[in-house]
Amino acid sequence: AFAALNLIALDVAATPDARILPRSPGLPDAWFAHDGQISKRAVRALTLAALAPKPGDVLWDIGAGSGSIGIEWLLAAPTGRVIAIEPRADRAAFIRDNVARFGTPEIEIITGRAPDALIGLPPADAIFVGGGGPEVIAAALAHRLPGARLVANAVTLESQAALIDLHRQHGGQLMQIALAESAPLGPYRGFTPARPLLHWCLA
Ligand code: SAH
Repeated sequence: AFAALNLIALDVAATPDARILPRSPGLPDAWFAHDGQISKRAVRALTLAALAPKPGDVLWDIGAGSGSIGIEWLLAAPTGRVIAIEPRADRAAFIRDNVARFGTPEIEIITGRAPDALIGLPPADAIFVGGGGPEVIAAALAHRLPGARLVANAVTLESQAALIDLHRQHGGQLMQIALAESAPLGPYRGFTPARPLLHWCLA
């Protein structure tokens, strides 16, 4: 069914498994190839809203993982451009797989580590930091051009401490996102909490 996603425009009747692909962010996690390291759909929707893709805009997706952020960027802004920085080759393969599944324009993948991998990249209209720790958040800020959006999500205490400090210095919007989702609990249901996340947006 996923493989048919990029065929919708061709002939829905000929591909009964095809789904109509929404362009709004926050698509189901299961639609992406991933190994568990993926921005969950609700967090992804908030993150895309903060990144605010516009036609032709360039995104740096630092710690791209499955590439879900870059994919949703390109679904919202198909004339945009995404540069994904991800050190793990197995996850870079997920990004390529997801580009094929969703039929988006290519994502330029840099299989390397920030901050070194950021040197010499084309200027970004928006930068997302989804991994790499305090050093990478600091580097992203240093590379941010005036007027560009910077969005960082942090789950570790060390990265969260960095965001709390950067928010004091630079302002912007700092949000804690603590989500819980219902799951079976014996014969009943209970809320299973996700790790609380700090989300910082400088725009
Ligand atoms: N937003 C992603 C999930 C990110 S998980 C998604 O939706 O799929 C964080 C990622 O950061 C991991 O894939 C990890 O390999 C990567 N990472 C860790 N250190 C990094 C560094 N120094 N530079 C770039 N990426 C890094």
